[in-house]
Amino acid sequence: TAPALTIQELTAQRDRAREDFAALVGRGLKLDLTRGKPSPRQLDLANELLDVRAPVVSADGTDLRNYGGLNGLAELRAIFSQALQVPVEQLLAAGNSSLELMHDAVVFAQLSVLPGGERRWADEPEIAFLCPVPGYDRHFGICERYGITMIPVPMTETGPDMDVVERLAADDARIKGIWCVPKYSNPDGTVYSAETVRRLAAMPTAAPDFRIFWDNAYAVHHLTDKPAEIADLLASCAQSGNPDRAFVFGSTSKITFAGSGVGFFGASAANVKWWLSHTVKRSIGPDKINQLRHVRFLKDADGLREHMRQHAALIRPKFDAVDKILSTELSGTGLASWTSPAGGYFILLRVPAGCAAAVVAKAKEAGIALTPAGATHPHGDDPQDQLIRIAPTFPELAEVEAAIDALATCVRLVGTEKLLA
Ligand code: PLP
Repeated sequence: TAPALTIQELTAQRDRAREDFAALVGRGLKLDLTRGKPSPRQLDLANELLDVRAPVVSADGTDLRNYGGLNGLAELRAIFSQALQVPVEQLLAAGNSSLELMHDAVVFAQLSVLPGGERRWADEPEIAFLCPVPGYDRHFGICERYGITMIPVPMTETGPDMDVVERLAADDARIKGIWCVPKYSNPDGTVYSAETVRRLAAMPTAAPDFRIFWDNAYAVHHLTDKPAEIADLLASCAQSGNPDRAFVFGSTSKITFAGSGVGFFGASAANVKWWLSHTVKRSIGPDKINQLRHVRFLKDADGLREHMRQHAALIRPKFDAVDKILSTELSGTGLASWTSPAGGYFILLRVPAGCAAAVVAKAKEAGIALTPAGATHPHGDDPQDQLIRIAPTFPELAEVEAAIDALATCVRLVGTEKLLA
């Protein structure tokens, strides 16, 4: 809440912000807080992947240099089965990106009837997805690309507002799916509660082929020593009599190499069969040598956990620095609030309504690249214009500090000018 400042106090603050901003522009910074990418040091943690030694054979003796193995390497699927909460036989290891799997899931559903469905999505007059907001812009991009109507649903501290989700999903047969990032959500860091998972799995849906796109991109990306656990969606769907409702996605993009990792798809046996009936036409098999490298490097679920602790050690100081600087510069001003996520890749900054785009523009003038305001919403339109996604992992710590300090100056400038307008 805004402190009760006199006009004189506020004017003094604005004038100071103007001076600070002018000095900032004079520094000619060039910093980038846009995309959630691992830093070079984080990538270095996995450099062992670059040594692939022969023989490249799987546990069952298959020569991995050759064609085949559409499901992906069983040993790798075993390592990720627990983290992604999918039984090994229902988990597939694929190419280097989970986003492409989400994309393909939508395309396959457009072109062929899903288990439980009556028609291909392409044959429906209109289809729609529920989009919890704030959310991930690339999910919205897939919907845009394929003409899927996006229906925003507000996020709460325990996941999407389930009263809204249940009402819409039950009433509107156009609604075929929902995007969910259930752990350390992009961008708000939310961890879905067990109750949210239970309600998603159990709710009646007007569409018989409704799918939850469960993008567990940050399943093992903890920033604290108390890893968040979420309820098992796949099991919950099965228990609720909706075994085919969940599509689970994940990847090693922010575990090993963002550009050369492994993507995963998990679902019910019927969904996996449906999936493979399409992917078999698309490829004779994934890059199994890359998958083997991951097995040799990570070894097992404990190896994965230990590796993620090393990531946390590198990035936690950056998250702490953001929090510290924002607290020093903006606490008590009423001009901003922000998340303190326990994992994932983002901090979400909330500024007064109508200020986010202006803050991003001012930051650009000062040489700080930020994700466009609005990217957290379908069609890039945050109706309140108040959310800014901060991605602190990629720059060096000193750069993060300089960028956040600059961002705080922009918030003070835009915020005080707005209050005085
Ligand atoms: N899903 C979420 C929620 C993400 O934040 C990201 C990357 O930022 C991705 C998916 C991309 O995943 P991948 O690299 O596996 O395609």
